[in-house]
Amino acid sequence: MEPSDALEKLFRLTPPQRAALRRLGIHTVENLLRHFPSRYEAAGEESPIAGLVAGSEATIYGTIGNLDTRRSWKRRIPVGEAVIRDSSGSIKVMWFHQPYLAKKFSEGMFVKAVGAISGKGGKPYLANPHVEAADPVKSPLLSRPRAPYKEAEGALFAVYPESRGITSLWFRHAIERVMQSGALERLIDPLPDDVREKYSLPSLQSSLRAIHAPNTEAHAKAARKRFAFEEIFAINVARALERRQNDSLPSFCIKDGARLADTFTASLPFSLTAAQKRAIRDIVSDFARPHPMARLLEGDVGSGKTAVAAATSYAVVKSRPLGQDFGTLQVAYMAPTEILATQHFNSFIEFFRELPISIALITGSGCRKFPSKSSPGQATSISRAQLLKWVENGEIAMVVGTHALIQKTVRFKHLAYAIVDEQHRFGTAQRRALAKKESVAPHFLSMTATPIPRTLALTLYGDLDLSVLDELPPGRAVITTRIVKNTGEGRQEAYEKIRAELALGRQAYVICPRIEEPDPEKANALQAKSAKAEAKRLAADVFPKHRIGLLHGAMKPAEKDEAMARFADHELDILVATSVVEVGVNVPNATVILIEGAERFGLAQLHQLRGRVMRSSHPPYCFLLPETNGSASLARLRALEKSTDGFVLAEKDLETRGAGDLLGRRQWGMTDLGMEALQNIKLIRAAREEASALIERDPALSAHAALRRRLEEAGQFHAE
Ligand code: ADP
Ligand code: MG
Repeated sequence: MEPSDALEKLFRLTPPQRAALRRLGIHTVENLLRHFPSRYEAAGEESPIAGLVAGSEATIYGTIGNLDTRRSWKRRIPVGEAVIRDSSGSIKVMWFHQPYLAKKFSEGMFVKAVGAISGKGGKPYLANPHVEAADPVKSPLLSRPRAPYKEAEGALFAVYPESRGITSLWFRHAIERVMQSGALERLIDPLPDDVREKYSLPSLQSSLRAIHAPNTEAHAKAARKRFAFEEIFAINVARALERRQNDSLPSFCIKDGARLADTFTASLPFSLTAAQKRAIRDIVSDFARPHPMARLLEGDVGSGKTAVAAATSYAVVKSRPLGQDFGTLQVAYMAPTEILATQHFNSFIEFFRELPISIALITGSGCRKFPSKSSPGQATSISRAQLLKWVENGEIAMVVGTHALIQKTVRFKHLAYAIVDEQHRFGTAQRRALAKKESVAPHFLSMTATPIPRTLALTLYGDLDLSVLDELPPGRAVITTRIVKNTGEGRQEAYEKIRAELALGRQAYVICPRIEEPDPEKANALQAKSAKAEAKRLAADVFPKHRIGLLHGAMKPAEKDEAMARFADHELDILVATSVVEVGVNVPNATVILIEGAERFGLAQLHQLRGRVMRSSHPPYCFLLPETNGSASLARLRALEKSTDGFVLAEKDLETRGAGDLLGRRQWGMTDLGMEALQNIKLIRAAREEASALIERDPALSAHAALRRRLEEAGQFHAE
């Protein structure tokens, strides 16, 4: 057996197992060895569910699911139901006369249950047990609360993440077979020996053994730490390589940027914040260098990133290509959606009204150009073919659009500056594509309002320099955030405020955690409000005189655009939406937002949601309505009453609930282990330092073949 052997050849797999492995990205023996357990159970400790017999008392740990309430079949008494599963099996839970107990838990929660096993003669079930949330064994690296298991006498056994079609047991057996085959010894450690020794990290072989079959928790902990380090280190090596590559490319050198940007800012109706000035200075001094800028502009919603983009774009479009005294350099501005592209096109027209610049908008639904030849104060629709021609011959200085902008069909004459707004994954492959397309690589600015903690920014954006807008323009009304108890009274109070704002001619958002009501039978167990049902209810019972619209992620793009446009044009008073409104939508007349099921969201995400009503000078309000009035969730939400700094809130998310709550985590392509490591600033720093030292010594990774292969497989290494 070799590490690179396909599992299909070595194991007899059922079709569901095959599908599950494919879904998990596990194809080879090595992939299998790198599929890590999510926790460990102590053999012979609390009862495995499979062994439970009726008539005994039991304490079990597992994940709870299938939560439901109904009336019992014979006696019509209300019953709450659930199923608890562990790696050995599952058991039904019944709460007679206490159906509400089923509502205390959410699907997939890890729990401890204590109670009597009933069901003599039939299937055993737990009757009226005491059930409470428990902490599964998490990486002790993160100094989580202790495992619920007593210290084991014998070995621990691994529990792999739940996945449809394949059991934890299958993984344990398969990995054991691989270990016995000796394939493990033939793996080469991607971590350089000197780095490993410096931080006393265990070798690849012993870490793999310890992570899959630890003797003690300490062994598992050391192994997890090693793999977390390896992942963060590899990301940093990839970023350092990218940066090095970037710094070897030629770019447009703009010497006069500072003066040009000043000309622009003098035309603004407001004066810039100190933070905006700093960011502009950072950017124009990058422009003056012969290599492309690679910079991230982080700033909370409303901090004025667009003005920074406009001032620096102005400096670019007013500059001539090198050695030429005609023509202009060009700017591409990429927004995440068509709505936002259109909004930005309009703001740039406003910004450049006094300093006319030709600007174009390219979206799937059409192209526009400003100024129009016939009526110079206006924008006009033009054909795509015409627009592409003008972009290619350099007549249009600035192009605004979605991703479509980097397609092959869009050719620039002198693309000198590319700005992307809220597109986290942009910057690696796409940036390279963009740079390759042009003979001279454009300066690159990524802008984001997504509050991410420092450790994550250092890792993910390790190849970018950073400018931060840590200050809001003056005169903004401070948002009033209120946590409203989920009672009839609390709700009425929030609705009254919404009514009062609507009476002043303002608009409101109501955010719901779900799109649709689940199966009506289960409507009680899963109480999360659905946007669809809530929109109906509000229209019928609460705001019958107002115009209510709906926006959620399952709608077609055209429907979404229409709902947003109607809200923006004030054809709607209230927009009931899911968290899809989180990114960048700008409706300044909206001044109040009510968020249902607030505890289901991370703090940083709630902060972004309330940013939707911080776009104007009217005093904004945010009401947070939790589903339950439990003190833990209320305490967490209080942070939003206290802080209006998205980055502080993101750090707090990381601290209180781990990486799971971080905004955008799905796009970042890190494993859970890597995400957990973000709580460990020392580890992050060390990985970063070692990575840049390594790239200094061996930029082609020629002496580090195993590391190079790891990066190549992740699509992160590209020979120069
Ligand atoms: P974001 O950082 O969220 O993209 P925007 O660039 O959309 O923020 O700015 C929000 C609003 O604030 C816009 O209407 C913009 O014109 C205005 N603005 C930007 N900078 C300033 C400033 N220094 N003083 C006053 N208003 C400003
Ligand atoms: Mg913006």
